[in-house]
Amino acid sequence: MNRKYRKVIIAGNWKMNTKPSDVKAFVEKIRDLTVRCKWCETVICAPFSHLTVAYRAFWNGRISLGAQNLSQYASGAYTGEVSGEMLRDLNVKYVIVGHSERRQYFGETDITVNKKVHAALDTDLRPIICVGETAEQREMGLTEELISYQVRAALAGVPEERIRRVVIAYEPIWAIGTGNTATAQQAQEVNRHIRAVIRGLYGARLARAVPILYGGSMNESNAEELLAQPDIDGGLIGGASLVPEKFSSIIMAACQE
Ligand code: PEP
Repeated sequence: MNRKYRKVIIAGNWKMNTKPSDVKAFVEKIRDLTVRCKWCETVICAPFSHLTVAYRAFWNGRISLGAQNLSQYASGAYTGEVSGEMLRDLNVKYVIVGHSERRQYFGETDITVNKKVHAALDTDLRPIICVGETAEQREMGLTEELISYQVRAALAGVPEERIRRVVIAYEPIWAIGTGNTATAQQAQEVNRHIRAVIRGLYGARLARAVPILYGGSMNESNAEELLAQPDIDGGLIGGASLVPEKFSSIIMAACQE
């Protein structure tokens, strides 16, 4: 992390876990186990069904509200979809876009990811754009090329004045939910590369302002080392975000002096 230029973001992704009635107790535990810290923002990306209750529970619990997906469309006959405007009306601030599980199980492509990034920015949401390679692609030496493509595709048509609202999360697919975390050096290398891609598109000043997270089996044991890297500005955390003690330890690692 580099606190001079960027806030640290610790974002939990609850995926399709927990119930709305679990939210209150979770937040109370986080509040008890953490202290307020001015350079770190904690976010929880909850399922749609939890958003109303979560906002009420989060607002004085020092946690910002995030969603896990949004529709690429603004409104209309799209049964089962949830628009950016609907999320914003529920005080959602962040939305995950292009998580590898959505790409793998729900057919999201780089094109739909780009449409969703625009849908988020159009409704004043901050997209957390996920990019990452498979184990095979890494072994073939394609990581940098693939990540460059994913980042460029996701940001196509995003103007300069909106890039500061964007968050990128490098999430190697082989590290998600597997317990195989990328080493701090591997994660730093890719995050530095992502910043270079953004620099090429928007220039050095704006590239410095974009938070680039790491996600993939981040936990209470490896968070400190990962967050100490200059281009890792926080974490997107799945499994460990469901356990208040673990998630709080990661928040506290980001809050260290
Ligand atoms: C994720 O789903 O974004 C993630 C990083 O999951 P986990 O921390 O469980 O690997």
